Amino acid sequence: MKFWRTVSTQQNSCNFRKIFMAAFGSLFMPEMAITWFDGDSWSPTEVVASDSISFHPGAHVLHYSSTCFEGLKAFRHADGSVKIFRMDKNIERFAQSSRLLGLPEIDKAQTQQMIESIVRQYAADVPEPPGSMYIRPTHIGTEPAIGKAAVPSVTSCQYILLSPVGDYFAGGDKALRLLVDDEAMRCPPHMGMIKSGGNYAAAMGPILNAKAQYQADQVLFCPGGDVQETGAANFLLIDGNQIITKALDESFLHGVTRDSILTLARDLGMDVQERQLSVDELLERAAKPGCEAALSGTAAVLAPVGTLIYKDKEYKVGNGGIGATTVKLRRALNDIQWGKAEDPHGWLTHL
Ligand SMILES: *Cc1c(COP(=O)(O)O)cnc(C)c1O
Repeated sequence: MKFWRTVSTQQNSCNFRKIFMAAFGSLFMPEMAITWFDGDSWSPTEVVASDSISFHPGAHVLHYSSTCFEGLKAFRHADGSVKIFRMDKNIERFAQSSRLLGLPEIDKAQTQQMIESIVRQYAADVPEPPGSMYIRPTHIGTEPAIGKAAVPSVTSCQYILLSPVGDYFAGGDKALRLLVDDEAMRCPPHMGMIKSGGNYAAAMGPILNAKAQYQADQVLFCPGGDVQETGAANFLLIDGNQIITKALDESFLHGVTRDSILTLARDLGMDVQERQLSVDELLERAAKPGCEAALSGTAAVLAPVGTLIYKDKEYKVGNGGIGATTVKLRRALNDIQWGKAEDPHGWLTHL
């Protein structure tokens, strides 16, 4: 049974229409790169059909969530070349997630070769800006051992799926509504730095409640009143020349986009404050004219936040719409990704 649709490289014109109409991440290239760890070493990389994976129903991942993933993008430049954005950072985080989950250590050089070779194979299918090729490395525990609830999987599988994506803001660049939750945690603090399905599962209940009760788009998790992140993106408060965001610790996901935006903001002379931000300070500052808030992540780069909902009250952020600094920073990052500006920090890998 197929749960996903694949696109073929043969019909580009038709594909591009499909890509721009499809929901983000619902189209896949027909093949993927894959390697298996047998308890001792990684198998040579193979390229197989992206709907061909097969493992035992007792596989560790299906019972004890030994799974982690990455999300990064390849971009097509005007000269036809294809570049991958901050691949080294994503592979480093993939290795860290694997380690913290007790999965076998990945071979970073092999993972990089797998990413490069599969993107090269589908270079002709990398959409033009504002589209891109979304790259989804995944690592799962495959050992058929349902008795190993507290023991890591000895065997595992790593694959690189590709999903061509269109303009994230095709449906409009609408400012988001966030429910500010000062009690719930997105995930246990020791899991924060792991990009893992288990953490998404943990956040699902609170997010569904926020959608049903408050028509919120996402939950801003602020356990103990400490503004942390949403279900799938980091949170930035932009107040005039200042950007305020939580300092890195073990409790939340260290976004590559967060790091990139803060770096560009420093380049632009902004005052970047990585520190604790309380819900009280957030609400007090957000009400000021000219204040902005945004979510950062690979899919959208920066998505504007227009409304915060806290204790049944709604607070507009600035004018409730899209802020000029949010747009400026997003464009600065897009310009580097799309080859319209210099890449002073060496973030792009040329294929
Ligand atoms: C992936 C992710 C982010 C964003 O990370 P990027 O590297 O910027 O894409 C933020 N928070 C969570 C929970 C994530 O899973």
